[in-house]
Amino acid sequence: MSESSGTAIRLPDAAADLLREVPTGLWIGSGPCPSSDGSTFDVLNPATGGSLATVANATVDDAVAAVDAAAAAADEWAATPPRTRGEILRASFETITRRREDFALLMTLEMGKTLDESRGEVAYGAEFFRWFSEEAARINGRVTTAPSGNGEIVVTKEPVGICLAVTPWNFPLAMGTRKIGPALAAGCTMVVKPSEDTPLTTLLLAKVMSEAGLPPGVLSVIPTMRAPEVVAAVMADERLRKVSFTGSTQVGRKLLEQAAGHVLRTSMELGGNAPFIVFDDADLDAAVDGAIAAKMRNGGEACTAANRILVQNSVREEFTAKLTERIAATEVGPGWEPGSLLGPIINARQRERIADLVDDAASDGAVLHTGGSILPGPGFFYQPTVLDQIPAGAAILREEIFGPVAAITGFDTEDEAIALANGTEFGLASYFYSTDLARVQRVSRRIQAGMVGVNRGVISDPAAPFGGIKQSGLGSEGGSEGIQEYLNTKYVALPPI
Ligand code: NAD
Repeated sequence: MSESSGTAIRLPDAAADLLREVPTGLWIGSGPCPSSDGSTFDVLNPATGGSLATVANATVDDAVAAVDAAAAAADEWAATPPRTRGEILRASFETITRRREDFALLMTLEMGKTLDESRGEVAYGAEFFRWFSEEAARINGRVTTAPSGNGEIVVTKEPVGICLAVTPWNFPLAMGTRKIGPALAAGCTMVVKPSEDTPLTTLLLAKVMSEAGLPPGVLSVIPTMRAPEVVAAVMADERLRKVSFTGSTQVGRKLLEQAAGHVLRTSMELGGNAPFIVFDDADLDAAVDGAIAAKMRNGGEACTAANRILVQNSVREEFTAKLTERIAATEVGPGWEPGSLLGPIINARQRERIADLVDDAASDGAVLHTGGSILPGPGFFYQPTVLDQIPAGAAILREEIFGPVAAITGFDTEDEAIALANGTEFGLASYFYSTDLARVQRVSRRIQAGMVGVNRGVISDPAAPFGGIKQSGLGSEGGSEGIQEYLNTKYVALPPI
């Protein structure tokens, strides 16, 4: 289906063929199928508000069918040689990389980010498959003689079994590959419930992986507008052994409660409230570059986004002026248009939330340096915004902004900066800029976060463990840690030799 008529904005020429190729059925077993009740939903283009595609809307019965397919494939996939599992992931990596422009355009169309951002995500997202294709062949156990001499201790690793992945809309490819890569490398089968806002990328991914030789049932994709009931049905299925979720802390909590029913393994990548601290000994221009990356990357719609920019008062005015100049110059427009540096917000509801946070802070006395308004016209655009002198207690300092809004607060001492940085229930990403080595060592230790960026505004790397502490989640994705989330440890006690 093509973009609804009546919108003035033209899609790129390549969009029509690409959208024709993307499967719009549920991907269960060996390929696309309609939902059991025949219902569908529209996937919207956030730059126009028009419909991009009409996708099958999974029911509870469909979810059970996906678990059936995962169960039917489980034993054979677990017994498939690790090298073979790795080769299928590697072949998928090659295809995604070769088809970089297609994946990038599809993400720009359904999620809104600029094509350059989408290309970056293709490289990042595909890399999880290359990384875990290599990890598949390095699943190690150990053998030791019991210290008493009274036996041999054999420790082996086994796939946990059937997994459910529930993913968000902000990184449609990478949030999938970061879970699918390690699960399949470990020998697990997986059902993915992608975000209802961005199911197309995951559906194209399933097709590409099937063409790369992935056996039917190893990966199923069940887009749905009925996430609460469909996910609850899978969570209640005794065959499921693990859930991996990326999304809001609020939904993560619900899934943790459901996981208690059958004591499922869980990985939770939840919300963040990242502090971005600029000390007065920082290279200020580098700090502005870093803040632009940490704030504006992905339009601010990232769980790692700098949510609270904390600047030492002696350099705050200078830093704020430089940051404001850069942010005010950000070109806003559809992500596929050359020159666009900031695309739309994912949907009207999210945009409303951002506007409310900004209005609330401004009415409480925060100083608005640029932006601060919803942009008129089709699509869900919001002005790039800088706020300073935000009063303590404002909602914008407690909640995830998830948009292109830089929220600046001043501090005087290192202790005060640390107290502000840690004064949140979240603990995902954090950043700070300083040229003082002793301070770098001190602050890295004292910040309560799963990830710390020192003099850099981008930290994600498929070879590094990504994850949060406190209410930002449980477990790590990526790195050599990532595959452990999909492996059980078994101890075999042997008699002494
Ligand atoms: P969300 O929690 O609303 O939705 C995430 C997924 O959960 C979607 O697939 C959605 O359909 C599903 N879902 C919603 N309600 C559900 C329910 N009751 N039961 C089962 N599933 C349900 O989050 P979102 O708006 O898609 O994404 C934004 C959030 O994700 C932000 O809070 C952000 O910080 C977080 N996020 C975290 C990471 C990370 O790695 N920590 C990465 C990206 C996004």
